[in-house]
Amino acid sequence: MTPSPQTKSKRKPAWLAKTELERGLAGGRCPVCWSLRRSARRYIFSFLYEGMMSGSARETFLKGGGFCREHFWQAKAIEAECWADGFGIAILCENLLDRSLNDVKQIPDSKPEKKPSLLRIPTRPARRPAVLGLIPRSGCTVCAVLRESENHYLAVLEELLEDTDFSQRYQSSAGLCFYHLQVAAGQWQSSVALRLVKSTADGVVRQLIAELREFQRKHDYQYTSEPRGPEWTSPERAIEFLVGPMAELAGFADLMPTRKQDR
Ligand SMILES: [Zn+2]
Ligand SMILES: [Zn+2]
Repeated sequence: MTPSPQTKSKRKPAWLAKTELERGLAGGRCPVCWSLRRSARRYIFSFLYEGMMSGSARETFLKGGGFCREHFWQAKAIEAECWADGFGIAILCENLLDRSLNDVKQIPDSKPEKKPSLLRIPTRPARRPAVLGLIPRSGCTVCAVLRESENHYLAVLEELLEDTDFSQRYQSSAGLCFYHLQVAAGQWQSSVALRLVKSTADGVVRQLIAELREFQRKHDYQYTSEPRGPEWTSPERAIEFLVGPMAELAGFADLMPTRKQDR
C-alpha cells in the first residue's frame, strides 16, 4: 500500500495516478483531493480486510494511537457498508482502549509545582506533562500514506500538464483546490504547469465570486421568485475550493463488489 517513488514499477503507479487524476477532473473536483480520497478508502478497506491481521501492521496502528478522527469515522462507515457483520473496528477499539487504561493511570493526581517568580510577577501554573500517548493521533497510518501519495499525485500532475490534451481538459475543469495550489506552487519546477494552474484558478475564483453574489442577490425579497441556477451550489463549491471536500461517510460499496459476502 505504501508507494515508493524509487520502485521498479514506477511507470505503473504513474499510469494509475493519471487515471485517478483524470477521473477527478472529469467529476469537477480538485484532482488531487479526489485521488487522495480514493487512496484513503482503498487503504482503510485493505487494512480492515486483511492488514489488521498482521501483527506488525496492528502494532503500528496501535502505537500511532489509531486513526485520526476523520479516518476512524470513515473506517467505521466502510465496515458498516462493506461487511454487515464486521467487527474489526470493535477489535481495534478494544486494543486501543486497553492501552489507554495505562495512559489514564499515568495522569498525575497531585498539583504541579509552581515556579517561584523572583520579581513577584504572577506566573501561570505549571502544566502537567502530556502522558496520554494515544491522544495526539499524529500516527494515523492513513494520513501517513496520503502524505506520500499527495507528492506522487502532484508530481504526476505536473508532468501531465505539459501534455496539450490534458492541459486543455484541466483548463475547463474546477482545477486544484486552494491548498493543493499552494503545495504545487512550493514544489513544482515547471513554469508551464504553474502558469496553467494559476490561470485556471483565477478563472474558477472569479466565477465562484460571481455565483456567490448571484446567490446572495436571489435571497433579496424582490428576487426570490427567480428560478435557482447553478449559483445555488456555489457556497459548497467555494468551501471545497478553500478547504477541500467534505468528509466522506458513504458510497464505499464499490471497494469490494464481488467479495462482499466473504467476511
Ligand atoms: Zn485539493
Ligand atoms: Zn488520518
